Amino acid sequence: MKTFEGSYLGDDEKISDDTCMECKICHYVYKPEEGDDYWQIEKNTPFTKLPDHWHCPNCDGFMDQFMTIDRSDIS
Ligand SMILES: [Zn+2]
Repeated sequence: MKTFEGSYLGDDEKISDDTCMECKICHYVYKPEEGDDYWQIEKNTPFTKLPDHWHCPNCDGFMDQFMTIDRSDIS
């Protein structure tokens, strides 16, 4: 299997509690400080603490298609 730079792939150690994660498919960005209304995720929930059934609220993609994103890339 090909791996991609910055891919999540279940590697929690690369992701800190305030790391933003971007969906590779639809570019939805999960921001821990905002949580996620769709899945009723409370604010300040790190990506790594999301429930196993969580997936992209925008395109229904799985968590493993998310990659880390630099905060300087988003406003
Ligand atoms: Zn998506």
